[in-house]
Parts: sequence; structure tokens; C-alpha cells
Amino acid sequence: MPLDDDTLSQFLDTLDRFVRERLIPCEAEVAETDAIPPALAEEIRTMGLFGMSIPQEYGGLGLTMAEEVKAAFVLGQASPAFRSLIGTNNGIGSQGIIIDGTPEQRERYLSRLATGELISSFALTEPDAGSDAGSLSTSAKRDGDHYVINGTKRFITNAPHAGLFTVFARTKPGSTNSSGVTAFLVEGNTAGITFGARDRKMGQRGTHTCDVIFQDVRVHKTSIIGGPDRENQGFRTAMKVLDRGRLHISAVCVGAAERLIRDSLSYAMERRQFGEALAEKQLIQAMLADSKAEAFAARCMIEETARRRDSGQDVSTEAACCKMYASEMVGRVADRAVQIHGGAGYMSEYSVERFYRDVRLFRIYEGTTQIQQLIIARNMIRDAA
Ligand SMILES: Cc1cc2nc3c(=O)[nH]c(=O)nc-3n(C[C@H](O)[C@H](O)[C@H](O)COP(=O)(O)OP(=O)(O)OC[C@H]3O[C@@H](n4cnc5c(N)ncnc54)[C@H](O)[C@@H]3O)c2cc1C
Repeated sequence: MPLDDDTLSQFLDTLDRFVRERLIPCEAEVAETDAIPPALAEEIRTMGLFGMSIPQEYGGLGLTMAEEVKAAFVLGQASPAFRSLIGTNNGIGSQGIIIDGTPEQRERYLSRLATGELISSFALTEPDAGSDAGSLSTSAKRDGDHYVINGTKRFITNAPHAGLFTVFARTKPGSTNSSGVTAFLVEGNTAGITFGARDRKMGQRGTHTCDVIFQDVRVHKTSIIGGPDRENQGFRTAMKVLDRGRLHISAVCVGAAERLIRDSLSYAMERRQFGEALAEKQLIQAMLADSKAEAFAARCMIEETARRRDSGQDVSTEAACCKMYASEMVGRVADRAVQIHGGAGYMSEYSVERFYRDVRLFRIYEGTTQIQQLIIARNMIRDAA
């Protein structure tokens, strides 16, 4: 059920104020310390942001896709580290349970995910299986009513903090593609789970990823998302989850682009060269205008695709178009932002330097640009056939 207009605009106004007054002023500290201050994480929790996409019956805000992207446009204006903290609980870490979970699984996990008491992670990628995730080699061998999981997952967002993992493992021995893969819900304190050192990344300091190693991890067959009957159906769950996540990430890209444009415009209006403000120079204006038009185009695509998804349409092609366009767009916008700032744009005291590195990730995770191209073209060919 969509929120009524007043409630939605009140929520977005509060979020906007929170982003401007609490999150943006804390960005430099987060980048410096590689951590979100616990008191600020608590404020994020109190605002209900861990449960934006979780249904209201489980204590979440239950936003529709159209509402969620509006929230992500706002949240994306602050450092992506804040969004990442709540990102897995709202997206890849909870959507499998919401979309395909059993009533017991929803009951057991969703309310704690909505409050942020429990952090979830999505463990698909492996050292030898990235874009070709269907070739993963983590195994789950049946042993009576249990499965025994062995394997290593790589670059898992929020893994150092997670109490719950959605783990994709091969249950059909001898299979080599996605048809033999099952999605399991594995609690973080299960015996046999260990963690690699935190990855040292190009950007997005304050968000944490690491390897997760499963060694003879025993889980009951009821841990399969959707129940034991959904053995070997895990990849379908993964694709549905990523489909929704793509729209969310796209909206975050638009938020970041709008922030970069705002910062570039105010810098260009203040900084003077050759006797006038940079903003008076037509070559600077061209960069500002290109960025503005591209961010606006992405915003429109995302709003339209979110509306279509809420009305029940299959938006696999459009969601991939949004992810591809918006993540590439914010890369161009960040590049222009650095250029408009000149030497200052290369210096860490200006946020554009940090954003330039932070937004690079959006073209890589939840399906690279090349994988989005493959999805779009494959769907085009299928629809034409
Ligand atoms: C910070 C960070 C956080 C992450 N968080 C998570 C997480 O929480 N959970 C999770 O499961 N994974 C996560 N990932 C993994 C991420 O989804 C993968 O890195 C991504 O899917 C790409 O896989 P890869 O790194 O193995 O690259 P590869 O698949 O090795 O790709 C390398 C290059 O080859 C291109 N390529 C690959 N196949 C093709 C093809 N068929 N045609 C044309 N080009 C191709 C790719 O586009 C890319 O440019 C995260 C990654 C990072 C960096």
C-alpha cells in the first residue's frame, strides 16, 4: 500500500533534513576513521531506515518501489557509506526472504532486520565466480535433514557486522550452471563460519567487505529460502533480488550526481578566474549543463521504471537500463565535478575527490555495466523472437 501524499512528503522532508544536518557534516569523519559513529548509526536506526523496504506488518516502512527510489534520491546525496550501512537490510539481504521466504522465515528475521538489530549480507560472489555467478563452487551436501556447506565467498558487503547471510551454494552435484544452486539463510554465529581480513578499498570508507569462509557449516533443510521444496531454485531468487536492487542503486547514483552538481555549481559561482566567476565561462557551463541533463534523464527513467514495477510489470530490461545508465552517468558527473574544481578537486578536503572514488563502485557491483548490457540485449532478442 503506498503511503498517502502527506505522510510521504513528511518522511522525505525529514530524511532530507537528516541528510543535510547530520549525515553530510559527518562524512569526513567517516572517511577518516573508516567507521560510522555508533551514535549516528543509532539515529539511522531510530528513523526506521533499516526497514524502508520491509513490509509494515514486520515493523518496516513498507515503501513501494516508487517511494523507495524517492528516498534513495535523497539518501544518495550523502556519502554512500551511510546508504551502504542500511543497504543490505533493505535490499540484497532481506528481499530474498520478502519475495520467496516462508512465513516462518519472514517471522523469524524481518522485524529484526527492519529495526537494524540484525544485519544481513548477501553471499553470492566467489573468488572464481563473479559476473558468471551461476558457475559458483561453494557446495551444500545433503546429510539427512541437514546440508553441509563448504566454500569461500568474496567481497561480501557488511559481512563483518552480519548476523544473517543469504548464501548461494551448489546442491546438485555435477552441475556447473545456475540450475543446481540453492539459496540458504545461514545465521552468522553458526559453527564453521570464519571471516577474512577487511578489504582495503578504493573508496566508500566506512563500508566494510570481506571474505566469508564456510567450513563444514551445518544448516537444517528448512534454512532454504522458501523451504526444502525450493532446492536448486536459488538463482531465481538471486535474480529477483538483484532486479529490485538495481533500481535502488540507480536512484542512489542520481542522488550522488545531484550532490556533485550542487557542489560544482556553488564552487563555480564563487571561484573567480580571468576577472569573473567560473560559472560565467561557457565551457564550465557546458559541463554543468551536461551533468544536469544526464542526472535528470536518469531520474525520469528510474521513476518511470519504479512505477511500472509497482503496477506489476516485468521491468527486468528497464531496471538493467537504469543501472547501466545511472551508474555510468554518475561516473561522468563526478569526473566533470573534479574538472570544475580544478586542482582543488584533486584534494581530499573537497568532497568531490571522495565522491569521485566512491561512485566508481556503482559500475561494478550488483552486476557490472557489461552484464547490464548483456541482460538488455538478451531480453531485446528474446522479445523480438
Ligand atoms: C565493494 C564491493 C562490494 C561487493 N558486495 C558484494 C556483496 O555484498 N555480495 C556479493 O555477492 N558480491 C559483492 N560484490 C561482488 C560484485 O558483485 C562483483 O565484483 C561483480 O559482480 C563483478 O564480478 P568480478 O569482480 O568477479 O569481476 P569479473 O566477473 O571477473 O569481471 C571482470 C570484467 O570482465 C567483464 N566481464 C565479465 N563477463 C563478461 C562477459 N560475459 N562479457 C563482457 N564482459 C564481461 C566485467 O564486466 C568486468 O568488467 C562486491 C564487490 C565490491 C567491489
